[in-house]
Amino acid sequence: MNDSNSSLRQVVLASGNPGKLREFSALFAPLGIELIAQSRFGVSEAEEPYVTFVENALAKARHASRHTGLPALADDSGLCVAALGGAPGVYSARYAQRRMGGEKSDAANNALLVRELAGQPNRRAWYVALLVLVRSQDDPQPLIGEGIWHGEIVDTPQGGHGFGYDPHFYLPEQELTAAAMAPEQKNRISHRARALEELLAKLQAF
Ligand code: IMP
Repeated sequence: MNDSNSSLRQVVLASGNPGKLREFSALFAPLGIELIAQSRFGVSEAEEPYVTFVENALAKARHASRHTGLPALADDSGLCVAALGGAPGVYSARYAQRRMGGEKSDAANNALLVRELAGQPNRRAWYVALLVLVRSQDDPQPLIGEGIWHGEIVDTPQGGHGFGYDPHFYLPEQELTAAAMAPEQKNRISHRARALEELLAKLQAF
């Protein structure tokens, strides 16, 4: 890492998810960067009003940086399905809830997805992950890592790992769904792994 990055010692993570804090902390520690949860500074969850992953991730990172005065990292991710014009996209977590009300639920999301694709031969889908790092709230050049993971949607769920759409997200190359894959393997090749790899490469090149 060069001198400009040596000032990047503490970064606020714009997420309330303890799993994400653990995962990202382990990956940033070798760069000498400590990640701190935004809740430690009393920062509330930001709005995610946009229709693209990158805009939502940037809004979250900027919000955390504005409230703490520190550099901030945010992520946004979801599933895009070709035959559904990219839906559920940024609404992945709330796909069924937006349509039918009720609580946010992976089971309801998966049931709706299978229903929407009934009789549809085009099963192409991809997970998207966006990671955005701003060095200040008005950083004119946020560092952005994007990861895409291509697969196909299958009707029959398979596997007990992962979360969200993983039981229906089939990887033809591995002949497994993401939920049937060992978690370590998923973590090595997933959309999040790819986004992080791209972001870290940019950070190190700076
Ligand atoms: P978030 O970026 O953590 O808010 O995730 C958005 C939503 O996208 C999740 O609630 C899931 O529905 C979906 N999603 C994102 N990444 C994955 C994944 O790796 N497996 C399954 N579902 C995912």
